[in-house]
Amino acid sequence: MSMPLIQLQGITKTYGSGELASTVLNDIDITIYRGEFVAIMGSSGSGKSTLMNIMGCLDKPSSGEYWLQGQDVASLSRDQLAELRRDTFGFVFQSYHLLAGISARDNVAVPAVYSGLSRPERQQKADQLLTTLGLADRLENKPNQLSGGQQQRVSIARALMNGGEIILADEPTGALDSQSGADVMALLTRLARAGHTVILITHDPKVADQADRRIEISDGVVVSDPGPSKKAKVPALPAQAHGHGSLTAELFEAVRTAFSALSSNLFRAALTLLGIVIGVASVITMLAIGNGSQQEVVQSISAMGSNLLSVRPGAPNQFGRRATSTLVAADMQAIKELPNIEAVVPEIGGSATLRFGNVDHSPEINGTSADFVRARLWPVAKGTFFTEEDEQGYATVAVIGQSVAEALFPEQEPLGQYVMINTNLFQVIGVMSAKGASPWGQDQDDVVFVPYTTGGLRLFGQQFLRNITVSVSEVEHINDTEAEIKRLLIARHGGEDFQIRNMSSIIETVSATTQTFTWLLGSIAAISLLVGGIGVMNIMLVSVSERTREIGIRMATGAHTRHILQQFLIEALVVSALGGAIGVALGLAATALLGSVGVAVYFSLAPVLLAFGCAFATGLVFGWLPARKAARLDPVVALSSE
Ligand code: ADP
Ligand code: MG
Repeated sequence: MSMPLIQLQGITKTYGSGELASTVLNDIDITIYRGEFVAIMGSSGSGKSTLMNIMGCLDKPSSGEYWLQGQDVASLSRDQLAELRRDTFGFVFQSYHLLAGISARDNVAVPAVYSGLSRPERQQKADQLLTTLGLADRLENKPNQLSGGQQQRVSIARALMNGGEIILADEPTGALDSQSGADVMALLTRLARAGHTVILITHDPKVADQADRRIEISDGVVVSDPGPSKKAKVPALPAQAHGHGSLTAELFEAVRTAFSALSSNLFRAALTLLGIVIGVASVITMLAIGNGSQQEVVQSISAMGSNLLSVRPGAPNQFGRRATSTLVAADMQAIKELPNIEAVVPEIGGSATLRFGNVDHSPEINGTSADFVRARLWPVAKGTFFTEEDEQGYATVAVIGQSVAEALFPEQEPLGQYVMINTNLFQVIGVMSAKGASPWGQDQDDVVFVPYTTGGLRLFGQQFLRNITVSVSEVEHINDTEAEIKRLLIARHGGEDFQIRNMSSIIETVSATTQTFTWLLGSIAAISLLVGGIGVMNIMLVSVSERTREIGIRMATGAHTRHILQQFLIEALVVSALGGAIGVALGLAATALLGSVGVAVYFSLAPVLLAFGCAFATGLVFGWLPARKAARLDPVVALSSE
């Protein structure tokens, strides 16, 4: 005789260990040749299913040797075993084990997914098999739309999908009425005649009688075996078409499966999606708002003029220590003599109380020079600004901001009126045009300008300037001018006890600050994305435990570890990519809406890519654990789960 197809030698299976150990199979020797039709018979609990799972490479024996087609099964890896199941075995179970969510045709096609057949090829072959088995008019039906007998025929068709050289049928008629049972037995007999090796497991002697050889087991021991049945000639099985499944086709299939799995529980999928959607949308919106306010701040600072230099008292890099007593009016006069200087505006100030009639008001008091209007591009609305003569003559004149005008002179004409500042009377000679709030939200119109000379003498009791703003005539030479002012002041003061900043350095500082603000907003939003990711993980874990049996079926029909991993990972990625896409749309819509109601928003592509990328990464990271859990399941354990 030729080489045995299946050779079991001293196979033992023990569950548990120590005191609780129970030996379910004990020293089983069975040899089966190609083309045999064998019934393994025994009462319930005798170990038949355990034996079948070992023969089908779904389970491993505790000891003993299993040679399949001359190959030691123990030496094979997990994936090699999967390939063996895919190419050699076809399983038929008592409870059919069909996937509930998909049609008869798709159920039959499952094993060919893992042998790399293209979708049309698979469907054509599945249709053909189902037609042969008398189910031509049930191709599109889902399992719950089929009778028990029909479901069992679908599962037989599935067993034949990749050839089904060895058909392992565990109580295939156990759940069927007698007519359907007879049909199924006739079918298995036909397959055995056609050259398939059929191993039938049953507790029913009448069913066992239909096989050519009957092996009886009892309490895990073979009690009778007539030995291999002689056969004149085993017909050859048709060669199986194997696809060369490309990874793209595989991924495409996984995405399809993911969508159908998600659509089978739409409400749950939608809730999970919502977590990601909110996360992505808020990242985009928050970054747009952050960047928008940054742009606004930078713009309003630039609007003050890019030709300005600011000289402040205090040595550079001495934060916190505010030296206020180094700049004096003479410094300012000296700067005025330098080339490329358009205007020099000192600033001396503090707050003081203004009184008109019985109304008190405490605005910012700013002692400055006549050049202020020109340097700051801030015109007078009414009356005039004070002149250089006023400065030199210590004139008690004041120009008030709009907010001060409104507070002190709600009904009167302010020009020409006398107001009391501290204990001095000042005449109002002008009202500034409205400036609005500063980028920091401060009311810039709540201010009173007086000549710096008068201010120093009468209001602040000191001559030191808190700032000198220099405007240059030619912006392109601003750096030279800055260097010259520095040299001049070092010479005058005998050291660097001041700082000069130009507009670009100020803008840099301010935008660094607002950048921090943007990141803060962004990271709060990112946390919500993280929460969304945890939602994905949660749903995937639920999905894995709900679909453990499906995983078992897929493994039994030849899915590699990688296929299962891929399937669940892609499901997580589909959720998060879909959520990401909807989130991007929503985020852009929210940004546009906020922009249209006047919130400063700045839109750029980077946050969109960032948010979408984060959503995708979230799916990958949080999908990984559940997917790995699924992929590591033991096929028998997965199959027997409810
Ligand atoms: P049969 O299919 O002949 O009814 P099984 O092979 O399913 O019998 O089970 C044989 C014995 O092994 C039974 O007593 C059962 O309780 C035990 N058994 C099966 N699977 C397990 C398991 N995973 N852990 C512990 N005992 C098991
Ligand atoms: Mg059983």
